[in-house]
Amino acid sequence: MSRTSTSRRSEKRLRGIEIRSPECSNEVDLAEVASFLSSIFPSMSVSVKPTPFRDLTPRAIEKTASFLASSRVKDISRPFEPFEPMYGEVDYEVRGLTGDARLGGIVYDARRIEELLIGLLRTRNGLDTATIVMTDRLVSTYSYDDLRHHLRTIVHGFPSIVSVPGLVEAPAKPRQYYILKQRLASAGDETMDSELLKRAFKGRFLDYGSPKMTEVAKGLALQAVVHHLTLKPSCPNKKCRLFNAHWQEDLLLSQSGAPGLCSKHAELIRSLGRAPTISW
Ligand SMILES: [Zn+2]
Repeated sequence: MSRTSTSRRSEKRLRGIEIRSPECSNEVDLAEVASFLSSIFPSMSVSVKPTPFRDLTPRAIEKTASFLASSRVKDISRPFEPFEPMYGEVDYEVRGLTGDARLGGIVYDARRIEELLIGLLRTRNGLDTATIVMTDRLVSTYSYDDLRHHLRTIVHGFPSIVSVPGLVEAPAKPRQYYILKQRLASAGDETMDSELLKRAFKGRFLDYGSPKMTEVAKGLALQAVVHHLTLKPSCPNKKCRLFNAHWQEDLLLSQSGAPGLCSKHAELIRSLGRAPTISW
């Protein structure tokens, strides 16, 4: 559903939350995310289901692959426009959907992915279920503020999309990290450099394999549910789970503990937990 079609005020109760697992990674403990949401919304069923990209018919695979291939962001300095994909791009997506190719490295336009997911989920989920699709794909949205695409950790919508590699790749690392990286790059072994950088900036950015991946995913999943209920998922307070972080250090700070909400949102979440009513 697009934002424009959500302007009609409704008073509907949310009955369930559905988390769709990523295509193949195990970086996030989804059972823990589900139990975090259950503790906040005790009246709701919170379920974890397989990725909507699984078990597609051969015809749906072909269609989905072609849509994915034409959703790649090729020029980060321009708003996305769909294009006719090349054979190799579609073929890669077919192999990605059937588990024969590793996902990674390609950036997709988030709104196109949302459109695709709406199609894949349409017959199953109404508005009384908040759906959060976790994906192993990188997604970006174009910003008219600085006229370029930005990778995203989460894209709020119906469904909301949480990009697992986006947790690592989207928010910027500390400025000094890039300065040091540039210096090291001019002299030598890239693997050594990457290890050295990780040691030097330990704890200041999220990396694959960290238990904090799950902690961060919990806060983003909560943002998705708050968006579904209120259309206002963000908070300017850096110590609140609803903070929209553009820097890794802010992401880790805002998602560092349970429940970790500012006083305004602690009150809001308490009230939504008692009566999860869609109020927009
Ligand atoms: Zn807040």
